[in-house]
Amino acid sequence: MASRIPHSTLHGGCFCKRVRYSIDVDIPPLLNAYCHCTRCQKLFGAPFIHTIHLRPEAFKWTTAPIPLSNVTDEYVVINVKHRFRCKTCGSHIASWNEAKQKWSVWGATLDRDVNGRIIDWSFVKPTDHMFYGTRMLDIPDNLGKWEGYPNQSEPVHAPLTEDA
Ligand SMILES: [Zn+2]
Ligand SMILES: [Zn+2]
Repeated sequence: MASRIPHSTLHGGCFCKRVRYSIDVDIPPLLNAYCHCTRCQKLFGAPFIHTIHLRPEAFKWTTAPIPLSNVTDEYVVINVKHRFRCKTCGSHIASWNEAKQKWSVWGATLDRDVNGRIIDWSFVKPTDHMFYGTRMLDIPDNLGKWEGYPNQSEPVHAPLTEDA
């Protein structure tokens, strides 16, 4: 059942609202998944993150008219990936992959409705769990679970085993 997207543009931004972006929902994401890789775990200080990969034309900074460098710090921690964080509150907002020419945004930074739910969740709902081999906990849902990128790596079936 295809669900209709009521908005043509989704909005998100950092914790303090100084840095904002938009996503054009008419351009489907290249990838939309929960990532359990050890890089994301370290960089976000979280067991896993929700990442959405977008074509260049689907993502737009809406923080204007000040230059982006006035409001964000840019980090190149891993080759070719430029990560942007708000200068004021330190939130991760987006990253630009120079080699693959695509943006990544993190689902948790998207705007919420009055009930705290992400607006137009059907568009941004992840389809898979990737790099699931390095997960910190099992996720009991029906999404695909993969050693690496979805449909490009081995599926993961076995639950974590306790070391104790
Ligand atoms: Zn901020
Ligand atoms: Zn990751």
